[in-house]
Amino acid sequence: MKVIVPSEYGFCGGVRSALQKADDAIAEAGRLGEPCCLYGSIVHNRIVSASFERRGVRIIGSPDEAESGFVVIRTHGIADDKRKALEDKGLSIVDATCPVVLRSMALCRKAEGPVLIIGKRGHSEIESLQGARSDAAVIESPEDLRSLPSGTYSAVVQTTLSLSLLDRIREEARRLGITLTELNSICMASERRRSALLSILPDVDAVVVAGDEESANSRELRDLAALHGKPSYLALDASALPGKVFSFRTIGLTAGASTPDEVFSAMKRALESA
Ligand code: SF4
Repeated sequence: MKVIVPSEYGFCGGVRSALQKADDAIAEAGRLGEPCCLYGSIVHNRIVSASFERRGVRIIGSPDEAESGFVVIRTHGIADDKRKALEDKGLSIVDATCPVVLRSMALCRKAEGPVLIIGKRGHSEIESLQGARSDAAVIESPEDLRSLPSGTYSAVVQTTLSLSLLDRIREEARRLGITLTELNSICMASERRRSALLSILPDVDAVVVAGDEESANSRELRDLAALHGKPSYLALDASALPGKVFSFRTIGLTAGASTPDEVFSAMKRALESA
């Protein structure tokens, strides 16, 4: 089977830096004989989380679960009140929040007037943004705008939101007489991965995205290919590749920003050898 790979895929700078910070924190904690835990999934990929757990690192879901030593804040950040709770416990905080997410949180804090956070409810980045601006309403779909009074709103957009969904939200806002003053929060690394995938679509029969269903940017890559009429599949690793994939002659293979290089390479080998 022929496999075509786009010019950009896989780990972004934010993820590489977060994983390096986590590694450094674990090493420092070990040197001092202290425990180290991760606040939430450091990135949205179960293989990465499992690799930390194999090293004895606990993944916690709330400040109450942190006891002592080091705590590494996930790539998608943490709400301000939860960070304060960790600080109050005297823990050594290692902030692995992506700078792009930190910038969005800062935009939320200083935005004037009513604020909308456009993104998926419950996503860890959206929780962080809500933590930075508790009076903001979360808009997940064009329909969510219908409960708002018309007027002007500052809008902070989830870094990895699909641009087609954003366009539909913009269109509905115009229809409802809602003016969105969009603050610059979209992540260009995700955008470049999408553009690179689009450029290979004419040459492939189907697309495989190496990534976790939990990863928003991985799902977006799969959905982008589907939107352009290509059968597309999201698989955590080579063993999860669906049998249908092997019926195509040419596959476009890409990876979400949280997918380890070795997972991508193993998947590429499995497809090429079919
Ligand atoms: S995809 Fe963008 S926002 Fe998310 S970690 Fe990478 S650089 Fe940061």
